[in-house]
Amino acid sequence: MVRQFIVGGNWKMNGSRGTVSTLVKGLNEASLDKNVEVVVAPPALYINSVVETLKVGQVAGQNIYSESKGAFTGEISAEMLKDVGAQWVLLGHSERRHVFGEDSKSIAKKVKHALNTGLKVMYCVGETLDEREANQTTAVVFEQLQAVADVIQDWSQVVIAYEPVWAIGTGKVATPEQAQEVHHAIRQWLADKVNAQTAEATRIMYGGSVNAGNCKEIGKKADVDGFLVGGASLKPEFIDIINAQL
Ligand code: PGA
Repeated sequence: MVRQFIVGGNWKMNGSRGTVSTLVKGLNEASLDKNVEVVVAPPALYINSVVETLKVGQVAGQNIYSESKGAFTGEISAEMLKDVGAQWVLLGHSERRHVFGEDSKSIAKKVKHALNTGLKVMYCVGETLDEREANQTTAVVFEQLQAVADVIQDWSQVVIAYEPVWAIGTGKVATPEQAQEVHHAIRQWLADKVNAQTAEATRIMYGGSVNAGNCKEIGKKADVDGFLVGGASLKPEFIDIINAQL
């Protein structure tokens, strides 16, 4: 089974109309590895314009609420993302979990709602430094996965992003071996708790301080099927990360 390599750019709460159009132009004009699926996640206000102008990839929202519509001030729905042409949504990002206090159960509800609406999901999991040092890495990641497994059966539209919290935005990237170890554990978990076919087919991206310098080595690992890139996705080196397999 060949899992298509996937590279996501999470722009977080960065940019302006000007920088967004520069980023899109840079991607449109670059020579990109045709075998790589590219997805960018702009701030919600800019999704519409990125959908209309980006020719070389798909567009993701950075979050949704788990209801279709109603009195939920400040939120956006999966239906709205679909309506403006986004095909993906990131869910469970560590900043949502740790800055905004979202728990696995409420995130799992969003995953289910997004899938039911026809969006594809990048579901982010990962441990904090304290959890890693307490040997809790897989326990934490498995709890985050189990919450989703409790509410969905079909994982075909889900990509898992393993992002150790201690590596996000810190410049402290996981070693290729550390990434592979957890990716392998996640795939084994899928085999045990979901089924062998899902374990084989599901793509697992690595995220956390990925840059042009470290992506090639991490990307060579057997269970690393892509990258979710924050800071470096706002820079020209994002192109080099997309092309890491060339
Ligand atoms: P980073 O962020 O690449 O800036 O570490 C990754 C992410 O948050 O998805």
